[in-house]
Amino acid sequence: MYITTTIPYVNARPHLGHALELVQADALARHHRRRGEPVRFQTGTDDNSLKNVLAAEAEGVPVRELVDRNAAAFEGLRGTLDLSFDSFIRTSSHPGHRAGVERIWRATAHDLYQRHYEGLYCVGCEQFYPEGPCPDGHEAPLQLVSERNWFFRLSRYQDALLDLIRSGRLRIEPAARRNEVLAFVEAGLDDLSVSRSAARARGWGIPVPDDPGQVVYVWWDALANYVTALEGGDYDRWWVREPGKVHLMGKGVIRFHAVYWPAMLLSAGEPLPTAIFVHDYLTADGRKISKSSGNAADPVALVDAYGVDAVRWWLLREVPRVGDADFTEARLIARSDEDLANGLGNLVNRVATMVHRFLDGHVPPAGEPLAEVSGTVHEALEAFDFRRAAQGVWEIVEQANKYVERTRPWQQDPRGREASLGTLVHACRELAVQLEPFLPTAAVRVAAAVAGERLPRPRPLFRRLAG
Ligand SMILES: [Zn+2]
Repeated sequence: MYITTTIPYVNARPHLGHALELVQADALARHHRRRGEPVRFQTGTDDNSLKNVLAAEAEGVPVRELVDRNAAAFEGLRGTLDLSFDSFIRTSSHPGHRAGVERIWRATAHDLYQRHYEGLYCVGCEQFYPEGPCPDGHEAPLQLVSERNWFFRLSRYQDALLDLIRSGRLRIEPAARRNEVLAFVEAGLDDLSVSRSAARARGWGIPVPDDPGQVVYVWWDALANYVTALEGGDYDRWWVREPGKVHLMGKGVIRFHAVYWPAMLLSAGEPLPTAIFVHDYLTADGRKISKSSGNAADPVALVDAYGVDAVRWWLLREVPRVGDADFTEARLIARSDEDLANGLGNLVNRVATMVHRFLDGHVPPAGEPLAEVSGTVHEALEAFDFRRAAQGVWEIVEQANKYVERTRPWQQDPRGREASLGTLVHACRELAVQLEPFLPTAAVRVAAAVAGERLPRPRPLFRRLAG
């Protein structure tokens, strides 16, 4: 499976919304890898956005400097959030990107034409709107742009797109998002402006092939990353032959991915992605996440304060498949203490303590499995329902705790006790296996706590975060 996140523009450091998408993609990638499937997980940054240029101007630094600094902060999330991506593409420096964008441009030349255009442009969205203010909430007034641009004959692809989506060859989840895209396409498609003057772009970006006065529209440039990152044999392996190509994204960019991108590929005669998963937005303390949200929305500050397990667990266990979710530090602390310190950590400790107290640490033979959750977890992840998948893993903790209360191993005769503890150690081992896509480092600690023929001395696995 080829799994991609969107590539964020880098006018600022990453926030918690970026962390959500990366952690979801990571859980998906780890899940499919452990099933033995070949996986390529890719993320990166959109360096060529005009927003980056404006942010650099506002800071008074060269664009290259700002872009390099912020892109490094995004790439650094790999360590911060325990991400397992195989590839990180930066559109301003990846060796194959510019050539790939030029190749797709030339392959779609039969659908490109020039005309004069006047429209209202939102730099925040990097798109034109018929009227202001920006429907996505950007406060800067829309800019009146009047210039000669290249246009892409999107209108030609209406029927092909409807067929693609209705037939399920391009799966869009959740269903409400699929219906939203269908309604948009059914209403008729206008041709799309796909270049801007190099002057307006401040000379930043990829020049239009054979027309250096124009720069390729940053969305065209950014969308192409999903194939330009696949150089040489990788393209054939991951874009032509791979049966599962999944794009993850936030709801604000669905039209680019579910309409413009497939139309570009159809025009270029290239294979299409197979699935699109759209997540909703996070707010922090009830407000839209922005640069002014401070530490509450900074994934690095949150991991420094509470640890990666708490942050990943909140994102995967609390954020619903449909609907916005509000992040607060109090919710993160409560969820981590209840589930990780009290639930999971206590269970594993209690089991290891009993094995030491009654069996001198020796692990008895495994009994019957307590809860068979791998099917539930797989089904939930097939539906991109990360919260339901995390709840599935949780089923093991709940079943094991109930089992302890029911059997009360400390009151059993030695044979019964040995059988009960065998069952419980087995359940904790299964828990470590099932936890891996969600909490990779905690899974290693849990596995180590119940490993071997003789268990190590129990130690606390998670610290309590509340004072
Ligand atoms: Zn906007």
